[in-house]
Amino acid sequence: MKPRFTITQVIWLALFATAHAPQLSATEEKNPGATIDRLYRVDCGHSLANDESVWTPGENKGKSIEFSSTCYLIQHGSEYIMWDTGVPETAIGDPKGWSTLPSLIVYHLDRTISSQLAQIGLKPSDIDYVLVSHTHGDHIGNVGLFPDATVVMQQAEYEWINSPPPSDPNLNTLVQLARKLLGHPRRLELVTGDVDLFRDGSVRLLSTPGHTPGSQSLMVHLGKTGYVILSGDVAHLEDNFERDIVPALNVDKPESISSMDRIKQIMTEYDAQLFINHDKHQADELKLLPDFYH
Ligand SMILES: [Zn+2]
Repeated sequence: MKPRFTITQVIWLALFATAHAPQLSATEEKNPGATIDRLYRVDCGHSLANDESVWTPGENKGKSIEFSSTCYLIQHGSEYIMWDTGVPETAIGDPKGWSTLPSLIVYHLDRTISSQLAQIGLKPSDIDYVLVSHTHGDHIGNVGLFPDATVVMQQAEYEWINSPPPSDPNLNTLVQLARKLLGHPRRLELVTGDVDLFRDGSVRLLSTPGHTPGSQSLMVHLGKTGYVILSGDVAHLEDNFERDIVPALNVDKPESISSMDRIKQIMTEYDAQLFINHDKHQADELKLLPDFYH
């Protein structure tokens, strides 16, 4: 019988598995001070929803709310990493805006990622990794801008958008749009659970499912600022996070609550701050590219 893998493939697979196993404590001991160089907040759009209660069930019925859409650029030595890619650049300056679910929310984009990268002398082709928090259209709208980057997402998320459509019509629309926007990245890396990207504790994907089956957050370690967790959509608003409130458009509510609890524990353990992607009040207070955290 022919073996399924050659010896070289087995060695490669073993190395790959080691590189991606959740081994946070081991790497921390080895290199406790490893940090990224810079964390930039990139403006990836803003949106207006006419009924806040979709995100805060039982409260704020019929009240409109504005959300931010935020991406981040991380510099780790000579490598550059994008965390999420926001609303498609084709929406730039369109007064009608762009939408994932037009009856619920409309997004506007005032500046492109490319133009913001150019502000600090970078081009999209300088980006080595695109890390995907989850596959909602306002987070993966510009994956196609980085054809040479390695796109990293959770296997569960990839399987979800490529499975039979969800019965909820809104979720179904989101999944179909996700397949279209993600396309077929040339370098796609599907991971499971937590991943210490550079094996030095400085950039760690944290599995936080619930909002979608393969949702993830990201924790980075900065020399001066300390630990910062980028939420993905583990929570949309600071108040939701504090009170364990889960939006109506969500795949698994108990899982979402467990994921928020997990982030709270990690925040305590690492004395970490949480930057909540869609919380406009919070985002407006954060530094914006070309300014950065270090
Ligand atoms: Zn989302």
